[in-house]
Amino acid sequence: MEWCFAMPKIELHAHLNGSIRDSTLLGLAKALGEKGKIVFSEFEHVILNHDRSLREVFKLFDLIHMVTTDHEIVTRITKEVVEDFAAENVVYLELRTTPKRNDLVGMSKRSYVEAVVNGLRDVSTVEVNFSSCTTGGSLNPVCRNNACTGTAKKKIYVRLLLSIDRRETTEAAIETVKLALEMRHLGVMGVDLSGNPIIGEWVTFLPALKFAQEQGLSVTLHCGEVPNMEEIRRMLEFLPQRIGHACFLGEEEWKKLKSSKIPVEICLTSNVQTNTISSLDVHHFEDLYKSKHPIVLCTDDAGVFSTSLSKEYSIASSTFGIGKKEMFHLARNAIDFIFAGDGVKEELKHIFDSAALKLD
Ligand code: 5GP
Repeated sequence: MEWCFAMPKIELHAHLNGSIRDSTLLGLAKALGEKGKIVFSEFEHVILNHDRSLREVFKLFDLIHMVTTDHEIVTRITKEVVEDFAAENVVYLELRTTPKRNDLVGMSKRSYVEAVVNGLRDVSTVEVNFSSCTTGGSLNPVCRNNACTGTAKKKIYVRLLLSIDRRETTEAAIETVKLALEMRHLGVMGVDLSGNPIIGEWVTFLPALKFAQEQGLSVTLHCGEVPNMEEIRRMLEFLPQRIGHACFLGEEEWKKLKSSKIPVEICLTSNVQTNTISSLDVHHFEDLYKSKHPIVLCTDDAGVFSTSLSKEYSIASSTFGIGKKEMFHLARNAIDFIFAGDGVKEELKHIFDSAALKLD
């Protein structure tokens, strides 16, 4: 559907390394294969097989992380991912990534995030606003490209979320939150809890997540990817600013979610491909949409699941019989759930309202 591509959209649940282009991933893997560091044919097979369970997806992430190890690669991937989202008219992107340490190449969690920020600076196809500077305000020294100058027409706002991997310890999780706090001026708005949902305990991450909220960071949690009711309940009691997925909620948890009005990041293709949801026609999107619960359509891992935000809109529209105008409202409503402040929200409203005039 051409209009799904053309209309402005907001992406709030995109993992950096999951959004990597297949061509980039294969190229990087080939180069490592030539150096004898991996067996390329095995890698190629895993990348090109798009039919994977949730468990296999996490195996793939381990492989991806084997090729995305140094600062230059992290910078390149970030630049490409932002350019890809901007090319399909995403006007606001919250990009999340897990800060990684790699002593072999002198990478710390901090230098990893700096490499991500450099990727935002390197974007050349579109104007990027990635920190608290605005088009009308004074220039922020962190903006090296044409971001914030108001010179280019097409523009994307990008904000960062730092992910805590469920394999991490409490100390490592707190380290990530501290880093997020120190990097707020570079557009880090909050933290995410992600990683293999069958690994780790809620109590391990709770101190870090509490600390994040106390310090004014926004928190989003991967919640209900597996039927762990105790954890789901505790996550909802925590009152995060948003949750992702919400696939395995029981009746009680469902009620709790609805009364709490916590916005849900919905990832249709990801849920079906990983068998978290058996098919689209039973996806909880429909119930949440009909009951006017706050929801936002997202890609999760556009590279890994061969999708795009336009595709997700198109799938939702055709599966649930939602017309162009309603889909536009769905996209616009997401402004209320972004982690950036009121200034950005106002600018986004303006962008959507201008686009609404051209809708028919
Ligand atoms: P990165 O944080 O390395 O930029 O992006 C990939 C990482 O995001 C994965 O290793 C995993 O921790 C997390 N991730 C990506 N997709 C999913 C998902 O569908 N569910 C969960 N729980 N975590 C995910």
